[in-house]
Amino acid sequence: MEKFIKNHQYNHIKNQALNIVNAYSTIQDKKVIEAVKFSALEKITNEIYLDDEQETLIKHIVHLKEKEHIEQFLEGIIPYIIPFGPITEKSILKQFPKAKKLQLPNLQESNFSKLSYLSWFDTRAQRKYIIFEYKNGFKGFGGTFKPLYTKGICSLCNQLNDVGLFMARAKSGKETYVNRGNYICSDSDNCNAQITNLQYMEKFIETQLK
Ligand SMILES: [Zn+2]
Repeated sequence: MEKFIKNHQYNHIKNQALNIVNAYSTIQDKKVIEAVKFSALEKITNEIYLDDEQETLIKHIVHLKEKEHIEQFLEGIIPYIIPFGPITEKSILKQFPKAKKLQLPNLQESNFSKLSYLSWFDTRAQRKYIIFEYKNGFKGFGGTFKPLYTKGICSLCNQLNDVGLFMARAKSGKETYVNRGNYICSDSDNCNAQITNLQYMEKFIETQLK
């Protein structure tokens, strides 16, 4: 079977697995638990198109009962995750032609199966860089990042987390630019682990490119 799950879809499946296990610990009524299982599976198939073989694999979710089962189930689907990229240092540099002596992320140490976007902080330039997969290629944004020191809703994962203000130059007209600010998670690994759909990321990209 080929890889068929993107990072955000994996996160979505994981959340549904947690819902099922939580139902066992909070609900007595077996019929209600069955309904939770049915709804969890439906929430997955509504988001991800599954062929018969893929559905057989994902359907194991209905056998989850205890927390320990979740890891085992997730280990079974991890081999089918489509990693971010592949991206090279050359294609990263191409995204930021104006950045001088850009500090590159450590691509060898990145776990691309857990990424919906790639982000790193250039400590020399004190700038944060974000690269998205966009229209069969990549789209990169670089900007300043100031921690907010309080929780806020992240523009990429739409969850309440420790965020900071990411200020990046965005197009405002044909030849004109404005600095546009967005609150995004300070911890991008944690952010990537919480993205369950791409709509907020897409909105972020579209607003920056408008
Ligand atoms: Zn986030």
